[in-house]
Amino acid sequence: MMPRIEAVVFDLDDTLYSERQYALGGFGAVARAFADRLGDPAVSLSRMSELLDTPNRPRVFDALLDELRITDRNDLLVRMIATYRAHAPSIALFEGVEQLLTELRARFRLGLLTDGRSEGQWAKIDALALRNRFDVIVVTADLGPGFGKPSPRPFELISARLQVASTHTAYVADNPAKDFIAPNALGWTTIQVRRSGGLYADQPPAPGGAPHLIIESVDRLRDWLRAT
Ligand SMILES: [Mg+2]
Repeated sequence: MMPRIEAVVFDLDDTLYSERQYALGGFGAVARAFADRLGDPAVSLSRMSELLDTPNRPRVFDALLDELRITDRNDLLVRMIATYRAHAPSIALFEGVEQLLTELRARFRLGLLTDGRSEGQWAKIDALALRNRFDVIVVTADLGPGFGKPSPRPFELISARLQVASTHTAYVADNPAKDFIAPNALGWTTIQVRRSGGLYADQPPAPGGAPHLIIESVDRLRDWLRAT
């Protein structure tokens, strides 16, 4: 039997907006700021965007500097990362998300639970004008080190603040390698949005981390929630 859902909690990156879009904005800022070392910004941006789809994704700047044979890096890498992190996000909600959140707000308690550096996540939240669209927002980094997913702590915390039992709560997210382990263990219903081109769409689920339901876009949530 499907559980009666009273609260819906969303992940942020690659669930409500394109993380790729965020990354490309940051790469553009880096390409322009360090053109004296990296060369033509259009070329370095294009290369960084390609590297995002290789195993070098976690070390795009290192890989770029390797390819450019820049060995006297000094603090160049550190400054590139700082520029990336400080860039003003140029991102938009996925199509249909704004309307969906408006509709769901009328029927459910809504939460946002996201990992990532605090300053960067709040900058995204503000760029997307999300602050007033949720009853509770938890950026796990604000809780201190060690409370990122898959720690159950941020999920317990948001449950308490939403005042809805875990068995009546759904978590909607994109990355089965880390997003669903804790909420599954706590008895939440978990839903993966598996969008083609999503950075983590093809991640295998962690043990205990398989979602209860997989949908192709957040839009499909509407139908599923209507049936609960
Ligand atoms: Mg995500």
